[in-house]
Amino acid sequence: MAEERMTSEILEHCEAISAPFRITHGASFQLKDVDPACTLDLAGGKGEAKTALEQGVRMLSELQQKLYAQNRWGVLLLFQAMDAAGKDGTIKHVMSGVNPQGCQVSSFKAPSTQELAHDYLWRANQCLPERGRIGIFNRSYYEETLVVRVHPELLERQSLPPSLHSPDLWQERFREIRHYEAYLSRNGFLVRKFFLHLSKKEQKRRFLERLNNPEKHWKFSAADIRERAHWDHYMQAYEEMIRATASDQAPWYVVPADHKWFTRLVVAAAVIDSLQGLDLHYPQISEEERRALELARQQLQAE
Ligand code: ATP
Ligand code: MG
Repeated sequence: MAEERMTSEILEHCEAISAPFRITHGASFQLKDVDPACTLDLAGGKGEAKTALEQGVRMLSELQQKLYAQNRWGVLLLFQAMDAAGKDGTIKHVMSGVNPQGCQVSSFKAPSTQELAHDYLWRANQCLPERGRIGIFNRSYYEETLVVRVHPELLERQSLPPSLHSPDLWQERFREIRHYEAYLSRNGFLVRKFFLHLSKKEQKRRFLERLNNPEKHWKFSAADIRERAHWDHYMQAYEEMIRATASDQAPWYVVPADHKWFTRLVVAAAVIDSLQGLDLHYPQISEEERRALELARQQLQAE
């Protein structure tokens, strides 16, 4: 009982748990201001957070049913992170109660030849959620300002006309993405972006754990070590990206990722808080529809 009470108290504070990590105006944002090991000193710690997450999953399931029934809004949740930050586990846990029919996860890996033959937002556009649905992007078009920036040779493969190569390319991409997200928002699609902020030290620990445990070998790839070597460059690219693309309608959440239980709680709280802001409700039926239902009921009973 006492535990139940404490738990619901955490979830009554979805706004308080997620707001410290929400960036809507990036001008003064610095990555060093968010500690990857932060847990907000939550009373009850990991144990209570896990129970709260279970309750959060149930709340999300209910909100999603209303989203689906109302069929007005769509939701795009986008995840970015360095390897081993826990994107997959967070998506799996936070969305575990959601009806698979109302939710779709898209993973963005290195683009195919067909994808490279188009503009860089093309493949993301194919995967946008419908109204009433939640779309999850596991990585996203933001890779175009991250991995492509850290490895400029990837840009060569995009076959842009030479006259369009400009020193301002990254700023232009930021602007295009801001406009794209504003466009989605104005069309009734809620955009929420999560950067799972892992420390370099914790990434090393997780890689070693994967290497030392045969059941986790499959999760390890030599490419992960290669990307780790570019850590500082990635952090710089992430910081600039967040500064340039955080907005009121499409905020970034920079979520501490050294403690998985805390990451999951913050993400769940942020999604609940955002969906609650939509004032979702089951559609009301008209007087005429109510009469039709009553007629149907009488017909069935008369059989
Ligand atoms: P996991 O390792 O948990 O399976 P992941 O998201 O890291 O998940 P990988 O297959 O390891 O999946 O990596 C996908 C790779 O694709 C990443 O290194 C990412 O940077 C790269 N990628 C994604 N989008 C692009 C892009 N537009 N251009 C080039 N590379 C990209
Ligand atoms: Mg990977």
